[in-house]
Amino acid sequence: MLTDLTIAGALAGLAARDFSATELTTAHLDAIAALNPQLNAFITVTPELALAQAAAADEARAKGHAGPLAGIPIAIKDLFCTKDVRTTAASHILDHFIPPYDSTVTAQLRAAGAVTLGKANLDEFAMGSSNMSSAYGPVENPWHRQGQATRLVPGGSSGGSAAVVAARLALGATGTDTGGSIRQPASFTGTVGMKPTYGRCSRYGIIAFASSLDQAGPMARTVEDCALMLAAMAGFDPRDSTSAERPVPDFAAACRHSVKGMRIGIPTEYAAPGMPAAITDIWQRGQNWLREQGAEIVEVSLPHTKYGVPTYYIVATAECSSNLARYDGVRFGERVEGEDLIDLYERTRAAGFGAEVKRRILLGTYVLSAGYYDAYYLRAQQVRQLILRDFTEVFSKVDALLTPTAPSAAFAIGEMMDDPVTMYLNDIFTVPASLAGVPAMSVPAGLDHQGLPLGLQVIGKHFDESSVFAVAAALERAAGFTATPSLMAGAKP
Ligand code: GLN
Repeated sequence: MLTDLTIAGALAGLAARDFSATELTTAHLDAIAALNPQLNAFITVTPELALAQAAAADEARAKGHAGPLAGIPIAIKDLFCTKDVRTTAASHILDHFIPPYDSTVTAQLRAAGAVTLGKANLDEFAMGSSNMSSAYGPVENPWHRQGQATRLVPGGSSGGSAAVVAARLALGATGTDTGGSIRQPASFTGTVGMKPTYGRCSRYGIIAFASSLDQAGPMARTVEDCALMLAAMAGFDPRDSTSAERPVPDFAAACRHSVKGMRIGIPTEYAAPGMPAAITDIWQRGQNWLREQGAEIVEVSLPHTKYGVPTYYIVATAECSSNLARYDGVRFGERVEGEDLIDLYERTRAAGFGAEVKRRILLGTYVLSAGYYDAYYLRAQQVRQLILRDFTEVFSKVDALLTPTAPSAAFAIGEMMDDPVTMYLNDIFTVPASLAGVPAMSVPAGLDHQGLPLGLQVIGKHFDESSVFAVAAALERAAGFTATPSLMAGAKP
């Protein structure tokens, strides 16, 4: 099955002329036509564009100047602006928004020869952990609990990207991660996802949620595939003042580095009370795998971990309340006419935003308001510094950290919806790395007793994605994760 290939495998097959980019793309478009009506993982599919890009990739290869990802079909999270292709952020307020320009990341992927199949579903403006907040309806996780038909969430906010990769509708996908939105859906769908160091990928043309935290990253089925994608996505961009002027290392080569002699920290604070035994087990197994490959396992402490979730939900909501002020019905996006300008703003925003987005704008406006700024926002900024200091201190002693990615396996559609705080707690293991700006990656490590995938998280030093890739690849080799979801292209019914 062409849809079963890895990116590395597909590149080898294309180079050997075993199949063409057009055949590879057609196989994926067929899989999308068969499965997307149920999964709802794409908001927009662009078959004509994809086939034109595939034809161009075939031609480039024939002429001997194929880019590093020439002919590789991928999905783009619908938070990245794509020139002339509708970009919604899964919000009604951008229902009909057709950007006149490309985000830097998507432009770089296209320049590398990637074929873009369409725009993947997400939580509205990337706010959520389940994909339940999308204005285009929830995404279904292609995995199911053994012998049960209950529909599960793929995680969020990059849930569409994760589902597409798990179900073999694309070889890879872009995601964005503000507080865990690449890593938690990767964990819920048995896929690999990396949030690079803040500044590694340009944010230009990515619809902003929380600018000091947002970061783009790759999602794929192997660690090496993520490395290949990140190489094309990363790099300095003068149009993003926070993008880092640093060379992009050979990430794929890093995947082949041994972990022998590396020091891996196990933060004791990540042993959350009430954590399911399956998660504790897989974490223990991960430590053993690394030890067996010659790494030294060291207990470490990140004492401010417990403040991660409250700090994140102050910083992220504050920044989103400011970023989303631009959706006022005047310059772009949907407009609901009103009696006067204020009325137009109010009607537009009331009709255009969903409940979770409104909740966050309210929270963010509150924590930034004159009377509460010092008590909440300023405080959160100070605690964020302490969280960063925890990481800096720990990284003077170890090369990387190993933790679980999420406190549970995928939950059912509709579950955890009564109380937003329960949903926010899903981010407990992912937000500290976001607040510190360090790279972090989720790798599938095994299945729980119900047959659902569980991920392990590797966290590294600023701009040391290479060590993260090396450790993640070591875990991947030892885990030998070959399980596949019940709903995927080519699966026997
Ligand atoms: N789940 C987190 C939130 O709801 C993270 C989202 C993200 O990383 N975009 O904010």
